[in-house]
This record gives sequence, C-alpha cells and structure tokens, in this order.
Amino acid sequence: MEYKRSSALFAEAKKYIPGGVNSPVRAFNAVGGEPIFVKQAKGAYLYDEDGNKLIDYIASWGPMILGHAFQPVVNAVIEKTQLGTSFGMPTQIETEIAKLAVSMVPNVDKIRFVNSGTEACMSAVRLARGFTGKDKIIKFAGCYHGHSDSFLIQAGSGAVTFGSPNSPGVTQGTAKDTLLARYNDLESVKALIEANKNEISAIIIEPVAGNMGCIIPKKGFLEGLRKLCDDHKILLIFDEVMTGFRLAQGGAQELLNIKADIVTFGKVIGGGLPVGAFAARNEIMDYLAPLGPVYQAGTLSGNPLAMAAGLTMLKTLFEHEDIFKSLADKTAYLHQGLEKALEESELTYTINRLGSMISVHFTEEVYDFETAAKGNNSYFKKFFHGMLNEGIYLPPSAFESWFLNNALTYEDLDKTIDAATKVIKSL
Ligand SMILES: *Cc1c(COP(=O)(O)O)cnc(C)c1O
Repeated sequence: MEYKRSSALFAEAKKYIPGGVNSPVRAFNAVGGEPIFVKQAKGAYLYDEDGNKLIDYIASWGPMILGHAFQPVVNAVIEKTQLGTSFGMPTQIETEIAKLAVSMVPNVDKIRFVNSGTEACMSAVRLARGFTGKDKIIKFAGCYHGHSDSFLIQAGSGAVTFGSPNSPGVTQGTAKDTLLARYNDLESVKALIEANKNEISAIIIEPVAGNMGCIIPKKGFLEGLRKLCDDHKILLIFDEVMTGFRLAQGGAQELLNIKADIVTFGKVIGGGLPVGAFAARNEIMDYLAPLGPVYQAGTLSGNPLAMAAGLTMLKTLFEHEDIFKSLADKTAYLHQGLEKALEESELTYTINRLGSMISVHFTEEVYDFETAAKGNNSYFKKFFHGMLNEGIYLPPSAFESWFLNNALTYEDLDKTIDAATKVIKSL
C-alpha cells in the first residue's frame, strides 16, 4: 500500500498543528511510522486519501458502534441542521434523549449532557466532592478518564502512593488529591482508605478497562469496591465512556450487575458527534446548578445536532437489543481465529475480551497496568504494521482496546483472521 498523499498531508499538518494531530494517539508514536489521513468511511470500512480501503477496528474509538455514516444518524443530523445549529436556549430534543438514556441505564434518575468524556468525568468528580464534602479521589493506574488535571496522575515507584503528575502543568496541589490504586487489587484500595480516613469523596474506575488494552475486572473486585464505598460513605463513579451503550443497553452496570453512584458517558452516546454526559440518582444530581451549589455549564452542551445524532443512536440500540449479542458473537469469533493463529506460533500472548471489546497482548496474563506494560512492544509494532499492510486498521497502540462495529461481516472477520495468521507467522 502507498501512503504518498497521507504523508504529504501529515507534513503540511505538522506546520500548523502540534505534531500534526489534534489528539496524540493519532500520531502513531507508539507504533512508529506516519498516520493515515482518512477521506471518508462507510460501514466497517475506512477509505484513506491515497485510495486504500481498510477494515476498521477502532470505530472512532468506540462511537461508530453501528458502522460509519450510519444512515439514520446522518439523516437526523442533516434534518436538524436546517433548523439552526445552536441557540443557547433549551430544546425539546434534550429531554427526549435524557428520558431515553435514563430509561436504558440502571440506577440513575437524571442526566446532564456535556461535550466530551473528559468533561463528563471532570464534572462527575466535582459533583462527588461537592456532595460528600470531601476532597480526595482514588483512581486506578492505567485507567484513563480524560485529560483534566486530576486524572493525569500516574504511579511513582510503587503503585500505592501519593500521585505525582505525569504531565507538566498539573500542579502538586492537584496531584495530592488523587490517590492511585492497582486495578483488580482490592487490598491496594483498602490501604488508601485506611491511610486517608474520611477524606475520600469518590472512587472512579473503568468497570471494564479499555485504556491499557482491554482488562476485565476479576470476580469480586467491583463488588468489593461497592462494599468499601458503602462502608466508608464514598461515591463509586463508573466511567462508562467506553462501555456505556456498548457492553449492553445499560452498559457495564447491567452486564456485570453492579450499582454505581455516578456514571459517565461519551463516545457511543454522541453517535459520532462531540457528546459526553454524567448521570446519577436525584439526591446527587440535584446538587448541580441551578438546583444546587455545584457549578457546571457549557455553551454548546445539549447542542441540537449532537443530540439528534445521539438520540438516533440510542433509539436504534434501544429498539434492537440483539445488536449487543450480534457484536459479542462477532468478537468471540474473531477471538477464536486469533487464538488459533497465536497458538500455532511460538509467541507468548494473552487475548482479553468482553462483549465487543478485545485486545491482544504479547505477554502472559494481563489484569492491571503493570502486567499490560510487560507486553512485547516490538512484536506489537510489527503486528500492527503487518495488519495495516493487509488492509486491517487496528488501534495504533498496544494500550488500546479494539472496538468492533456491527457493520463488520463474517467475511471481514475471516479476512482479518487470515491476515493475522499470515502476519503472526512472520513475527
Ligand atoms: C475516551 C475516554 C475518556 C475521554 O473522553 P473524551 O471524549 O476523549 O474526552 C474518558 N474515559 C474513558 C474511559 C475513555 O475511554
């Protein structure tokens, strides 16, 4: 495959946009080489600026769960556009999508819409702090909750320690209020709660992690968190920006049968337009301005085009619950094919999968950030570029989950498995 135009466009972009991209993972730094510029996409396929056709396994990092340019969403957006694109005044469609979302998601009464997953998580934490009157939060190493200051904290030498910022610009003052625990390790959480008695407002977690590859919570882990939160008057925040409306209508809460206090959304809920949201029971949501004292706002929040896209997406998922099973079946089929190809090789590997999230790690047993970081990145790079060469677009980082979309056919999956078999042989 040739990427002449992509390469030229990247060179031009780099002159005016830092690193040539508006979000770092797009730059291919983790896998080397240059990013591919997309011209258009339809269903499961991407078409790049050089005329290459690729089978897509990132689905815009999740939102395009029904495939690209899904016709009902496209139509809804075009129709709304004719009526004006933003008013800064309430519109009926905001209530329609809120009502539908609240009916699909367990344990929530009200929802507020924002413009990104970052905003949703940032606002959820402020709300939790305001509601509980406590400052600190616990997050898990390797979990991503957007790029707001409180979340850009990584482990120092040991995972269980006071956070230190992993981006310049995050102050020590902010970092000291974010405590880091290990995913799938309840003891690490207990130790933090012990050492910070009555200071912790919330525990925020990806109930199924997708930002260190796909990592599945061990049996009893989320249940244990729920109990710790109840015992210590801590709010449990499920960051369902990836899992919401993907793992089931009611997201991970429904699939895993665990109750969170606040839930955040992004990605699928916007149907490909910039939307985030956070939701909780009345008692908590009524703490928000203008009803309550916790301030949160947005000029373009609840934007009619974004709401039209999101509403159409949610309606489709609501009316066709079989989509979730269909997606999970396709992912299981892909898993089997990849497993067979890897088994026949001499490579050490793990495949993690739940629903339509899956990742391949070139190491054994991956259940937290440390074990994910042991993955052999030079194999991953070769695997990624080998697959790309075969016309398969995987996430350009070993630390990202793949996201299947329901436009993928079994023929596409077979092509993917054949390509993987060939590429794995060459590693
Ligand atoms: C993508 C993501 C976010 C951030 O959402 P943005 O829309 O990129 O700001 C937050 N949490 C999780 C789990 C995510 O995957």
